[in-house]
Amino acid sequence: MSDSILNADDTSLMLQERVLRVLLNISNATIATKDLPDLMETIRKELSRLMDVTNLYIALYHPEDDTFTMPYFNDLKDHFEKVPARKTLSKYVVKTGKAILVRPSDFEELVKKDEVTLVGTDSKVWMGAPLQANDRIIGMIGLQSYTDENTYSDTDKNVLELVAHQIGLAIDRKQKEEELEVEKTYFEQLFRNVPEATVIQEYPGLITDVNVAFTRLFGFKPQELIGKSLDELIVPEELIPEAYSITRRTFEGEAVELETVRKKKNGKTLEVSLTVTPFRISPDKTIMYAIYRDISKKKEVERKLVTAKEKAEEADRLKTAFLTNMSHEIRTPMNAIMGFAQLLSSEDLTPENKTEYVNIIKNSGDSLLRLIDDILDLAKLESGQVVIREETTDVHEMMESLFLTFSRLISEKQNAELELRYDKHKINHPVTILTDPIRLRQILTNLLSNAIKFTHTGYVEFGFNISEPDNALVFYVKDTGIGIPPDKMEIIFNRFQQVDNSKTRLYPGTGLGLAISKHLTELLGGRIWVESEFNKGSAFYFTIPYKVLPNEESAEINNLNKEKLNLSGKNILIAEDDEYNYFYLREILRQAGVNVFHAVNGREAIHLVKEKNGKEIDLVLMDIEMPEVNGYEATAFIKNEYPRIPVIAQTAYASMEEKVKCLKAGCDAYLAKPLQINDLIDEIRKCL
Ligand code: ADP
Repeated sequence: MSDSILNADDTSLMLQERVLRVLLNISNATIATKDLPDLMETIRKELSRLMDVTNLYIALYHPEDDTFTMPYFNDLKDHFEKVPARKTLSKYVVKTGKAILVRPSDFEELVKKDEVTLVGTDSKVWMGAPLQANDRIIGMIGLQSYTDENTYSDTDKNVLELVAHQIGLAIDRKQKEEELEVEKTYFEQLFRNVPEATVIQEYPGLITDVNVAFTRLFGFKPQELIGKSLDELIVPEELIPEAYSITRRTFEGEAVELETVRKKKNGKTLEVSLTVTPFRISPDKTIMYAIYRDISKKKEVERKLVTAKEKAEEADRLKTAFLTNMSHEIRTPMNAIMGFAQLLSSEDLTPENKTEYVNIIKNSGDSLLRLIDDILDLAKLESGQVVIREETTDVHEMMESLFLTFSRLISEKQNAELELRYDKHKINHPVTILTDPIRLRQILTNLLSNAIKFTHTGYVEFGFNISEPDNALVFYVKDTGIGIPPDKMEIIFNRFQQVDNSKTRLYPGTGLGLAISKHLTELLGGRIWVESEFNKGSAFYFTIPYKVLPNEESAEINNLNKEKLNLSGKNILIAEDDEYNYFYLREILRQAGVNVFHAVNGREAIHLVKEKNGKEIDLVLMDIEMPEVNGYEATAFIKNEYPRIPVIAQTAYASMEEKVKCLKAGCDAYLAKPLQINDLIDEIRKCL
């Protein structure tokens, strides 16, 4: 068809040239124009070189819903955008695939044949040609004139048909280009903005692109990354071989997933989960797409959970071990008490047997009491209920007394291979400090008991020193015993922890002593630690502040201590309903030269004081729990009538409330049972 036009006459030759130029320009416009509207405008301009384009439109056909869209519409009258195609002239062109030139008479003919119905404003002449791309009709181009039927000729129709083909191709290409562009932008945006830190690398691991999340996570700017080797920027040195292997495997086609560690620009490391996927983008080019997720927090939570789980399991294990232990620790002395109490009742006992059995019972009772004390002590210490009572304390005196007590203990054990040493000459001057002497003694007792328990041969040495820089006293208890393995040196200060927690362990104990000692040292203002060599021996150290009294006060107290208070000739009334307790008190007091009176309840106590008219009784030791009239009532009465008689309460309820209650009732002092002889004598001396 085009040949017939292009080969006509001379005028045709000029036309032919113009047409060719237009065809070429339209073809180039696909590349030269920026978008579809721009292309359309160029088409219009080019076409205007060949024919009248006053009323020009381009309609793209959509077979799926039989509609046209009008990406270009330049018409003086009609304005369509998206319209149904139905039986319009435009659709007729699409359907037939041929260009037509229609004047009103031709139109009527078509209407009669029911090929078209009237749409739009009547035109004098209408011309349309199909737009074709790759054997597919994608729409049509239409031109019309509302005024002059000669605006277009058959030649124009042929030219339009020829140009329309080029226009079809151009539009199709532009459309595809735009679709591709949209798709590209879409994926680019997706890549840039996904919250996962993503990086694209080319062989051999050079970064070609990174997204926002990646730069944010690692703290680099994109320009600091592009073109560089990723492995050299974010991989900690020790993991470089691993990273190289990941890169190599990925470029060989393997997808890799793992959890590892990477470092930020500032050198800080973070735990990441890493997914690396290879993409073959052309037969000889593979890229590597890696996603990094920061899992540091997740890992931290995981670790905490594991520790919590281990702790819970450990606590459970310790609880069981503790109960087993406790059962053993209670049963052993209980067995002895029950057994020897029974033996005591047999008639053919020698006095030596008796003394021996009584001693065993007493010792077993002592250890039971110690156990209960320990448990209560620890519970109170852990709940912050233990209050430190500072008193002037002569440290040498305390150490001497401990030396005597423990020497006796060792000789009772009849262990000739163990020697107890107290190096009293380390500090040659008197050391009197302000501390809680009961608690200090308790710590030393715990450490000495342990040292003796865990040492079979050699020696246990203890003493103290002054550390001037810390202004502290440093106490030590050294032994040549079994020692402590390095991994246990910390934990033995935790409650219920023992080096050997097994049922078959050789040494008795509950694992409370060191926990109590640690709490106590800290309460006293110091710290405790151990140095030890397994199978060679241990040295426990603890400090307490070297707190001295102001000079005058200390001199006064020293004088007081030195002054031998004599209790002989004193009249002391013991109000106590329990016979054994009474015997015990009576024995202690008698040994101190006291005349003892006894009342079995509050009523009797009042009676006795009255009977002596308050003059002869120097002091009352008042049990609180007594029948008929209790200790509070009796005390209140006595203090009211005879305020000068000191009353010391003694009760089995060792609590702060109890103490306050006693003091409120009028008592001058308060002692908790079981009474320590020293405490008792001290209090009596103070009151008298
Ligand atoms: P217990 O002695 O009742 O078991 P402790 O809390 O006093 O409890 O001590 C805890 C553990 O520390 C002991 O079971 C023992 O394993 C270890 N230990 C304490 N003192 C010594 C020591 N002098 N030599 C060796 N091991 C010791």
